[in-house]
Amino acid sequence: MLSGAPEPALHPALPRPGGVLWLEEAVAGELPDVACPPLAGSATADVAIVGGGFTGLWTALHLRLAHPDLSVALLEATGCGFGASGRNGGWASGWQDELDLLLARTSPAGARFLLDECAAAISGIEAFLGEWEIECQWRRRGALWAASSPGQLRGPTAALARCRDVGRPDLLEPVGPDDVCRRTGSPVLGGGARLTDAAAVHPALLVRGLRRVALRLGVRIYEGSPVLTLDQRRGVSLLTPAGRLEAGAAVVALGAWTATLLPELARALVVVPSHVLATEPLGKRIEQLAWSEGELLCDGQASVHYAQVTPAGRVVFGRGGDGPLGWRSRPRPAHFADADALSRLVGDFRRWFPDLADAAITHGWGGPVDRSPSRLPMIGRSERGPETVYYAVGYSGNGVAPSFLVGKILASLASATRDTYASCGLVGPPTRWFPPEPLRSVGGELLRRGALAADDREAAGTRPRRLEAAARRTMALTLPDVFRPRCACRG
Ligand SMILES: Cc1cc2nc3c(=O)[nH]c(=O)nc-3n(C[C@H](O)[C@H](O)[C@H](O)COP(=O)(O)OP(=O)(O)OC[C@H]3O[C@@H](n4cnc5c(N)ncnc54)[C@H](O)[C@@H]3O)c2cc1C
Repeated sequence: MLSGAPEPALHPALPRPGGVLWLEEAVAGELPDVACPPLAGSATADVAIVGGGFTGLWTALHLRLAHPDLSVALLEATGCGFGASGRNGGWASGWQDELDLLLARTSPAGARFLLDECAAAISGIEAFLGEWEIECQWRRRGALWAASSPGQLRGPTAALARCRDVGRPDLLEPVGPDDVCRRTGSPVLGGGARLTDAAAVHPALLVRGLRRVALRLGVRIYEGSPVLTLDQRRGVSLLTPAGRLEAGAAVVALGAWTATLLPELARALVVVPSHVLATEPLGKRIEQLAWSEGELLCDGQASVHYAQVTPAGRVVFGRGGDGPLGWRSRPRPAHFADADALSRLVGDFRRWFPDLADAAITHGWGGPVDRSPSRLPMIGRSERGPETVYYAVGYSGNGVAPSFLVGKILASLASATRDTYASCGLVGPPTRWFPPEPLRSVGGELLRRGALAADDREAAGTRPRRLEAAARRTMALTLPDVFRPRCACRG
């Protein structure tokens, strides 16, 4: 189901590979013998997984590796990786810049456990790639989190102190403005911090590689199989257009689509777009910049910019939060390609890299980001029925590496394994909620626009207008954390 997958009525904003550099490249290089036809008729499994992105696939893989006796089936609406997992910025990093959020969520020891485990996810993914021979342009060269206006320096400075306080100064190191300028060639960036262990990756090659390994490990994958209803009254029953899957337990791994199947979580989420562009391969021009191939880059804006250079010498550059919130916390078509957001992104790219201003932009795309009030993933059990249905959602733009850990947690929960993962501080019902509709999207939208305008004015070297600054402040109050400047919101 790599192309031509029917667009199920459930979510009109379904991803397709067209326009997304990563998906185009991954799909073009794939063998035709790896098709996963839709579910037809009845099937059973010990564990059913809904959603074929990083979360669903890592859960399936951890389950099969730890419990080879459990049968696992995965249902994906279109093709594995066609959601956020195949269209993101390719930042794989931990939670060193989000330690304050971890500390707000759980005990100091619990926060340290999650910090360490997420940092270890980078090595864990790397080892997995080596063992299973997944080629996905994994380059473990660290990441620069640099201020694009003076006020943004507060974020890295506080994060550096926090990492020192908890005994992990190795995760983040200070970096001066001259160094950033020398390394990136960008005149708009100042100092900040360097995430010492982070990797740039081709996300679609990674997610399609996980799919391939999952198939080898015996996971049954049904693509083109959107789950239309989920019944958890007597066993778990999942209905698709042409079939039904009965399972002992289920894991909902739907990212920005979570509220389509679990509407009770809609108030614990907002869905916002992130847009990305890719230049043509820039050859010698990129080599002349000191921006070493693979070192990731982002700023500290509320609507964060993020970038990487691919091995082919393309700059991939994105910005989160430029576009309307999804009504009732679901994706909307504009989240996948908003011409206005993309043209503003091109302007930002030229401002960031004036020496590359004439580079041809060959690709531009968007994707929906699931944001939680705490800006950390929420992992819980659906309370709608007696049977066990678990979910994970709310990565808030930082899911590439954390999904490896979240997959472990979900695998422990779904297999009823009582370990430190199943009882870690991310597991539990949502404790913070966004306002109900229409306030959530209409009010949130007004605030979002104000906050974005404040960012844009600061980027242009002028002071935000009072109303815009107030919108950004109010945003921080009414939609807690959603637009707090930090680098971890890659999307
Ligand atoms: C543009 C963009 C840039 C980003 N940049 C970064 C970054 O650089 N670094 C980072 O760490 N994070 C980034 N993120 C976030 C990161 O991509 C996500 O957190 C992560 O991929 C989430 O994976 P997932 O498996 O939870 O969701 P998804 O990958 O979205 O998977 C959900 C899947 O569910 C499927 N689906 C939907 N409805 C149904 C249904 N009814 N039945 C069956 N299947 C269904 C979808 O087709 C999709 O494949 C970015 C996100 C976006 C959109």
